[in-house]
Amino acid sequence: ATPTALLVGTGRGARLGILIKGPEILEATRRVDVAVLDKTGTITAGRMAVTEVAAARGDDDAARAEVLALAGALERSSEHPIARAVVAAAETAGGAAPEVTDFDSAAGFGVSGRLTDGARVAVGRPGWIAEQGEVPAVVGDAVARLEATGATTVVLARGDAGGALTAIGVIALADEIKETSREAVAELVALGIEPVLLTGDQEAAARTVADAVGIERVVAGVLPEGKVAEVERLQAAGRVVAMVGDGVNDAAALAQADLGLAMGTGTDVAIEASDLTLVRGDLRSAPRAIALSRRTLRVIK
Ligand code: ADP
Ligand code: MG
Repeated sequence: ATPTALLVGTGRGARLGILIKGPEILEATRRVDVAVLDKTGTITAGRMAVTEVAAARGDDDAARAEVLALAGALERSSEHPIARAVVAAAETAGGAAPEVTDFDSAAGFGVSGRLTDGARVAVGRPGWIAEQGEVPAVVGDAVARLEATGATTVVLARGDAGGALTAIGVIALADEIKETSREAVAELVALGIEPVLLTGDQEAAARTVADAVGIERVVAGVLPEGKVAEVERLQAAGRVVAMVGDGVNDAAALAQADLGLAMGTGTDVAIEASDLTLVRGDLRSAPRAIALSRRTLRVIK
């Protein structure tokens, strides 16, 4: 191997918006045949917006404002794109935000805290809330209706101090797909790499995004440790796996993949776990990095 060829490769990479950790990753790019892509923040912009709010208490604006205000107070301490959207919507709605203490974040599930009267409150993925308490039919029905539209839904619940939670509302959110994602998927396919969408989000929301960018294989509703398991499963089947992600919940899978690519717009944890950083957060940099790396290898050999 000539160090000069490597430098040319990485220099060009920098111009393409790709940072390569070390030359040893070049070899992995040659055999990659599947690219596992995270959804939120990787294929989509991660700029979510609240599209609908439903309250168990009643179908009126006051009830909905109460749900948003409580969820917003909880989400203030979270960095998740869902949290940012809920906080923004709560501020617009202008309801009085209760004080929340004992904030806790469960990556890939949701967040929880405590109100001044001692009641526990939580907002997160519907299944996570259901595991911790009761979900009245009116809430379950709202989740099903909203998910059928391809929206991402989170459920808000509250309980007594130490007691089980009861779901009291649903918030639906939508995310914008990055303009460049569809082209990026086509470029991966042209390189002989099968794209797979891997997400913690629900099936219907995942399917909507996959269809829009041309991905056939979807693995949805996955927990953070499930992301690693999916990468390992593919590797056990003899596949050479590239993983692209941005979140705390993607870090372990990025480290496990044969080639980990982090969105430069994502979390530091994801960047540290990866071999390559796509500085501009443009998914097209993924196929381009692989193509450049393969060309660089040909120069060296
Ligand atoms: P993705 O794989 O699409 O990046 P995540 O693993 O970050 O998604 O999140 C999976 C699911 O966990 C979300 O769809 C949501 O239901 C729930 N969740 C995670 N973080 C939060 C949060 N801060 N507030 C509410 N729900 C959350
Ligand atoms: Mg993500």
